[in-house]
Amino acid sequence: MNEEVKIAQVIVNSSANDLNRIFDYKIPEGYEIGKNIDIGYRVLVSFANYKSLEIGYIIGFKKESEYKCKTISRVCDKTFDDNRLEIAKWMAKRYFCNFSDVLKLLVPPGTKTKIDKVNIKYERFVKLTEHFLNSQDEFKIRSDKQKRIIEFLKDNKEIPASILYEVTDTNSAVVKTLADKNICESFKVEVLRNPFFAKHVKRDEAPELSEEQKSIINSISINKFNEYLIYGVTGSGKTEIYLNLIDQVIKQNKTAIILVPEISLTPQITDRFLARFGRIIAILHSKLSNGERYDEWRRIDSGEAKIVIGARSALFAPVKDLGIIIIDEEHDSSYKSETTPKYDAREVARVMAQKADIPLVLGSATPDIRSYYKAENTDDIKLLKLTKRVSSAGMPTVKTVDMRKELAQGNKTVLSKELYEELKKNLENKEQTMLFLNRRGYSTFIMCRDCGYVVKCDKCDVAMTYHITKNKLLCHYCGAEKQNVTICPVCGSENIRYFGTGTQKIEQALNKIFPEASIIRMDIDTTNVKNGHEIILNRFKNEKIDILLGTQMITKGHDFSNVTLVGVLAADSSMNISDYRASERTFQLITQVCGRAGRGDKKGRAIIQTYMPDEFVIQMAEKQDYLSFYKSEIKVREKLNYPPFCDIMIGVLMGPNESTVKNDAKLFYDIFKEHFELFNPMPAPISKVNDNFRWRVLGKMQMNDKNIDLINICLDNFEQLKSKDTRLNFDINPNNMN
Ligand code: ADP
Ligand code: ZN
Ligand code: ZN
Repeated sequence: MNEEVKIAQVIVNSSANDLNRIFDYKIPEGYEIGKNIDIGYRVLVSFANYKSLEIGYIIGFKKESEYKCKTISRVCDKTFDDNRLEIAKWMAKRYFCNFSDVLKLLVPPGTKTKIDKVNIKYERFVKLTEHFLNSQDEFKIRSDKQKRIIEFLKDNKEIPASILYEVTDTNSAVVKTLADKNICESFKVEVLRNPFFAKHVKRDEAPELSEEQKSIINSISINKFNEYLIYGVTGSGKTEIYLNLIDQVIKQNKTAIILVPEISLTPQITDRFLARFGRIIAILHSKLSNGERYDEWRRIDSGEAKIVIGARSALFAPVKDLGIIIIDEEHDSSYKSETTPKYDAREVARVMAQKADIPLVLGSATPDIRSYYKAENTDDIKLLKLTKRVSSAGMPTVKTVDMRKELAQGNKTVLSKELYEELKKNLENKEQTMLFLNRRGYSTFIMCRDCGYVVKCDKCDVAMTYHITKNKLLCHYCGAEKQNVTICPVCGSENIRYFGTGTQKIEQALNKIFPEASIIRMDIDTTNVKNGHEIILNRFKNEKIDILLGTQMITKGHDFSNVTLVGVLAADSSMNISDYRASERTFQLITQVCGRAGRGDKKGRAIIQTYMPDEFVIQMAEKQDYLSFYKSEIKVREKLNYPPFCDIMIGVLMGPNESTVKNDAKLFYDIFKEHFELFNPMPAPISKVNDNFRWRVLGKMQMNDKNIDLINICLDNFEQLKSKDTRLNFDINPNNMN
């Protein structure tokens, strides 16, 4: 050890602003750098005016401090290495946040809520006794159940009792009988809360890959950095390529991270990985309990789990010797965080892959316009294409229906004649249908027909949605509830009308039109319980429910072979949002949901109901022609100077007093205008949420190192001059522009 180094530089795991800097602490007696203390160690430290100890992390050392400093109270475990520290530093600067905000992603889950309290869990295991294994022939077993257990244990050595009972269709009484004969024994083991531990998944082998798949795999070099974009229609075999690449990496004794959209982290994808690789996979997503997440983290940290599947934050799992990062459905908006740190997992993955000199593979059937542009026009991303579906049935046939004509012909129901006929056919043939509508609730707003009054949330500038299940009005922004309105509070009229259609209304209509059909609805309101998604999808599959009706969450990644019909009930609903990505989002949604049809051997059909059949995006979605859509869209973006030709900077100022907010919006504008091209401050499209007024400043710029520095300076400047009551929500290329 370097004798002169006495001081550790510590940052504190706190969101308090006055703690967001580096503090000096003396290294305690008996600690030696590189031996039992180092960069990345978790420590407990005390502050003069704080009662409890704070958790901190060592980020560096120095010889002396100019301050009179305290000694570290306790040195805990090593939490992250230098590489991860570098990434964290880069992220804090790039995403304009506190270093400690980033660190929260890197530390084991539950650290803040005292890991020591996470309960250790036990499970009962069964195995054959030594005595039996050495002298099998002496035993005469007649019971079939007993025979099954013995055969299964011979193949599996030790196995959790729950799995044994399930697979052999036996119970504890049979095991007890065998134990009494000294044939098997059961014992308790400490187990990690592995979310799929009790699952028995049959192992499978990789299929013979197609020529297209092989050629893509051959053009990806496993041992150096490159970013690739695999563009391939839904069901074209992208996942099979990921599995192959990961297999290569594992054979080199390295590890892999694969990100999938949060919403599609269903048993389907994990089962596929389990079947191919067995229990060396770990899954990380927001629905795991603290204990489960902590255990997965430990399995990764110890090297037991070599493949991490997860949502965007799985990028920060403590893997060692990372060999590849894969991002499936790379266009998905869940890769961009909308809360601090507002990182884009694709950007962070690129930096990580570069540092580790390993490949980054993106895949999608409808790539982000920005990714595709980069792949076509720069050397930053290499473009790889899969052109055909694997299944013999091929792509689904897609048809649009003009809902204006339906209305003209007197059809006032939610189903066009065409979709009605197809649904009927599917019900008769016992085939399943998915119906997609991107609005939850019953109706989107209610209005007085006499005076035009629209019921709005008291705290937000938002129309309230009627929920029939609760018979209440709900604000989808702040969650406020209100009694339903039957008499207009302004003019007293009873002529109140419900406008717009949500999933609940469709469910009610379907029940009327097809009283004999079984229907299951999937939206935020029905999936709010633990494993809510999974429960609904499993019921849909196992109980062979006729119709799955739902929002966005039914569109991702599911692979049900008996679904032969998909209906898009209101294709235009995402067209009218005031966002330059409206067309792109609409195209992605329609294409993804149509891609759910006909994934088995039977041909799929999809019907798109629209009031805008002449819109180019709807026509291209009908043809499932991403490339034509891309070519037209990229021209629009270039002409109007939108991403990828620039980056969008957005500052939303919020506070309880409108004039203060307005002044601060002006202040923000004045500070940033020195360096950037900005639009005048305006009330945000949603001008009030939860009693806070909102003003917005938009700007266009190019993200580069120089501008990142400038923004950081401007933000510091603004922070010092703004009113105390004003909060700023600042982001570059956010998902939501409101
Ligand atoms: P994607 O990820 O592009 O949607 P998948 O990899 O899930 O496509 O492939 C679609 C279906 O085709 C899956 O059921 C998969 O098991 C199967 N599949 C993929 N590649 C092959 C292949 N080379 N041979 C046989 N079946 C394949
Ligand atoms: Zn009225
Ligand atoms: Zn509200």
